[in-house]
Amino acid sequence: CGIVAYIGQREAYPIVLKGLKRLEYRGYDSAGVAIINNGLQVYKKKGKVALLEEELVGKDMHSHIAIGHTRWATHGEPSDANAHPHISGDGKLAMVHNGIIENYAHLKKELQNLGHVFKSDTDTEVLMHFIEEIKKSNQCSLEEALRIALKRVVGAYVILIVDQDNPGTLIAARKGSPLVIGVGKGEHFLASDASPIVEYTKEVVYVNDYEIAILREDELILKNISNEIQTPYIQKLDIEL
Ligand code: GLU
Repeated sequence: CGIVAYIGQREAYPIVLKGLKRLEYRGYDSAGVAIINNGLQVYKKKGKVALLEEELVGKDMHSHIAIGHTRWATHGEPSDANAHPHISGDGKLAMVHNGIIENYAHLKKELQNLGHVFKSDTDTEVLMHFIEEIKKSNQCSLEEALRIALKRVVGAYVILIVDQDNPGTLIAARKGSPLVIGVGKGEHFLASDASPIVEYTKEVVYVNDYEIAILREDELILKNISNEIQTPYIQKLDIEL
């Protein structure tokens, strides 16, 4: 029901954790985060953000990139396994998703026929594997695979993906669910609304439907689903915390 992410020079995990707490008012049943520290690390749990936080005390959470999620279950009961992030079959990609993939059952069958094994009952994990499958069979970039996948997806989504082989890049897409990008100096923030972002920067970009954002610490590229570059419209927030 909420997403938060960070890429930049600061420690990403504390920023994402705080952001998830700011989004708690939306309601949720589970929470999770992914960071890249000696490869992809994913932590997720049914229950409150505070419970996840407790479990991570003392862990090495050092990372300059992180994605976080609070889940409001639509497909699959609230559980640790169904909590986000969901990972690809090879364990290299992690994704968080708000919304619903309506044609997931059909895609799941296709993927199972190709040998994919699923660890959750979510529509989200199906989309993660679908993107992975396209990336492998087309030997294309993650960005290209995402674009191809989204053309076949029916539903509403905001999704964020990280790739352990590409720790300096975060990819996001939206259709029908809100996504705000905070533009800082050498850093970017992403969230479902501006409340986790406003304490760091007042410059935001509201991503439009069918847009894909490619984020690095010092770069924000916005494209439409046809791979055409869009000029990000940077707005100034006038809200205070
Ligand atoms: N449909 C996804 C799930 O059930 C995402 C739900 C959400 O928006 O939190 O896991």
